[in-house]
Amino acid sequence: IIQVSNLKKSFGNQEVLRDVSFSVKKNEVVAVIGPSGSGKSTMLRSLVNLEQVNGGSIRVQDDYLVKDGVYAGNQEIKQITSRMGMVFQHFNLFPHLTVKENLEIAPRVVKGEASSDIRKMSAELLEKVGLSDKADAYPAKLSGGQKQRVAIARALMMNPQILLFDEPTSALDPELTGEVLQVIKQLAQEHMTMMVVTHEMGFAREVANQIMFMDKGEFVESGTPEQLFTNAKFERTKSFLHRAL
Ligand code: ATP
Ligand code: MG
Repeated sequence: IIQVSNLKKSFGNQEVLRDVSFSVKKNEVVAVIGPSGSGKSTMLRSLVNLEQVNGGSIRVQDDYLVKDGVYAGNQEIKQITSRMGMVFQHFNLFPHLTVKENLEIAPRVVKGEASSDIRKMSAELLEKVGLSDKADAYPAKLSGGQKQRVAIARALMMNPQILLFDEPTSALDPELTGEVLQVIKQLAQEHMTMMVVTHEMGFAREVANQIMFMDKGEFVESGTPEQLFTNAKFERTKSFLHRAL
């Protein structure tokens, strides 16, 4: 569903992505791990055009967001990025909107769908993440775990082909990470295609089909959890996992 090849990105003279290539198949859950500063967020943000790369290609389904460093036109970019939903570390909810309004604003404004359909869908998704009773609450009244579950429901409102998560539990107190990981696990069981940047090795091992290790802007290796955790090819993967476990 996503094919990335030879992605390059620099901030000034610092190379943050060096020739990164990988693919994500439909219905697959890919966990992305690696040290701080290795380029995980930049890679994810590039996929949804929050960062622009300096070279390489990103193909989503049959369309190129960028091909050999040349970007598609604005309309096409919008169309392509709308197939992906993003969930951030710090939730990024609209503070002046209720939970329900947070879910409904994008489909209303962007898609102009019928209000009754939108209301039906937001009610279903809040039910799914266990927050039906918070529909009319403002984000400030929610716990971090609840905010993140709202953010996931909001991303699902746009019917994405793939969901991208950037450290969805890193800003949470440990006792709140479980409820968020549970929602992601449930989506995995429903075969949602997902790419999750995470430091939660137990979660990665349990839920991911493929784990991708990044270090210093390079895609070092990937494999099934079994392969990577017991039989990594590269020394730097082994030593990272050794430190992380
Ligand atoms: P972490 O695990 O800490 O979130 P990461 O793997 O997500 O790290 P990135 O956030 O992608 O890493 O950052 C990769 C490198 O790019 C870092 O050295 C960072 O300082 C640099 N960087 C990221 N965003 C910018 C920016 N907007 N301007 C300049 N440098 C940046
Ligand atoms: Mg990051």
